[in-house]
Amino acid sequence: MTRYRIIVVGGVAGGMSAATRLRRLREDADIVVLERGEHVSFANCGLPYYIGGVIEERQDVLLQSPGSLRSRFELDVRVRHEAVAIDRAARTVRVRDLATGQETDERYDALILSPGASPRRPDVPGAERMLTLRDVADADAVLRELPDARSALVLGGGFIGVEMVENLVHRGLAVTLVEHGDQLLGPLDPEMAEPLARRLRDAGVDVRLGADLVALDGSTATLADGSVVGADLAIAAIGVQPDTALARDAGLALGARGGIVVDEQLRTNDSAIWAIGDAVEKIDALTGTPRLVALAGLANRHGRLAADAIAGRPVRARDALGTAIVGAFGLTAAMTGWSEKALRAAGREPRVVHTHPASHAGYYPGAEQMALKLLIDPETDAILGAQGVGGEGVDKRLDVIATAMAGGLLASDLADLELAYAPQFSSAKDPVNMLGYVARNAAEGLTPSVQWHELEAELAAGATLVDVRTPGEYAGGAIPGSVNLPLDDLRERVGELPPGRLIVHCKVGQRGHTAVRLLAQLGREAVNLDGGYLTWAEGTASRESAAVPVG
Ligand code: FAD
Repeated sequence: MTRYRIIVVGGVAGGMSAATRLRRLREDADIVVLERGEHVSFANCGLPYYIGGVIEERQDVLLQSPGSLRSRFELDVRVRHEAVAIDRAARTVRVRDLATGQETDERYDALILSPGASPRRPDVPGAERMLTLRDVADADAVLRELPDARSALVLGGGFIGVEMVENLVHRGLAVTLVEHGDQLLGPLDPEMAEPLARRLRDAGVDVRLGADLVALDGSTATLADGSVVGADLAIAAIGVQPDTALARDAGLALGARGGIVVDEQLRTNDSAIWAIGDAVEKIDALTGTPRLVALAGLANRHGRLAADAIAGRPVRARDALGTAIVGAFGLTAAMTGWSEKALRAAGREPRVVHTHPASHAGYYPGAEQMALKLLIDPETDAILGAQGVGGEGVDKRLDVIATAMAGGLLASDLADLELAYAPQFSSAKDPVNMLGYVARNAAEGLTPSVQWHELEAELAAGATLVDVRTPGEYAGGAIPGSVNLPLDDLRERVGELPPGRLIVHCKVGQRGHTAVRLLAQLGREAVNLDGGYLTWAEGTASRESAAVPVG
């Protein structure tokens, strides 16, 4: 009897998760994995750190080999074999052996496509010599150029660009980071991305925001403002596009975002073909509409789900939140769900909460301040997104919030989460609980707030800005136009404040909240500047760093 035959195209994140899961479920099937590159199952997320020398051993990014996958999983893994066409009627894949050029037709009962996404390249003179980073061969190409390079240009300030910058600095290169947008990490809001730009600059990186590359020559790059920067090594990290040629040529449905369309079982419009990973459109958890999310967690998870579906197990892919994290020079930036700017661009007016808690109890050594941001639907109290930037513990808080979102908890519910606490790990009121407190206060109308970017219009409309910090803090830096009336004196001196609307602020928003409560009970109209002076300072600095080219 002919054995059930499964072909997997793409032997890295999604493809290899699917193939190994399938073997655990179907010992009776033949499973063939086609990979056009030289390696399978390598750690593409580790490549920037291999280039930086943080991961020293090449072996550590090569997680498996065809031999190890054969012995443990009885997988027929063929590297340097490219799937070049699919005959859906005959259920065959045309496979080209890249070593010999020979082509064969391989029969399948089920086909899984996990071809990933290709790095975009800029279209400027000299761009041919730009390197991109997708696989081990790309990392090798960068490593080959490193010994002769003293300067590097990284084009693109997204997650991979930032990781590359850090690792090239580790290697001792003078690095220029050129980003077209007016902030790093486009998915974050500007005030949350600003600390990262500052950290990179502090580490000696020449960060150019709102900048464009116009040409590359032998060892320099020319930017649109006419400046010339060192570029012995030039790396493009300007995003990826789904690798869909094979699917498109086979007549599989592609969506408006350019990815392969699949259903909840990861099945394409052909009942014998599944597709997963970066090449596939995901469904946004907030809007229920298609979007592209190129992240390893989803690729791995969907690989497992596609295998389950093929094995006849009931599966349903969850909608995507797009939870992501990056670290550089000791600073972590992470996000889940939607940003404030994306929500506003889509015509939604989120309730926004900024806090600046300590990573653990302030009295226990080593606590680091972080900034957290929560986006909330003001009608339903649903959590729409969250962002965090800082040191220790940012990852944990974002993961808790992403979990809360997946579980359908409301913003106010965060106040009631029972989270692990001892002084070296957190505070009795964990930063996530505190977000919940602030959210609940806002939902119940106890402490209304305004955002840093709304302040100018508020003041122009006649509101008075009251800084309730101490005179010492005020002298160290204050928002223009504010009057200083410390919280501890407010009860006695409230009569000194002019009539009309008051906007109150402290350093992080906490004393401001107490002040608003006091003023409201004294019959004054008062609102808190959300996130206090720190959020305002990051927000206004982000506008300046976007406007002022450095260098
Ligand atoms: P891939 O893992 O890229 O695998 C696709 C494979 O298919 C490729 O090896 C390709 O050669 C092969 N292929 C394509 N077409 C064919 C064909 N016709 N025939 C045969 N083989 C074919 N994500 C995170 O969540 N966190 C991170 O920190 C992170 N860091 C990253 C760092 C780098 C440098 C890169 C490149 C990516 C990073 N990612 C990260 C993204 C993550 O690696 C991807 O989301 C994930 O690998 C996607 O899995 P995939 O199976 O869709 O594609």
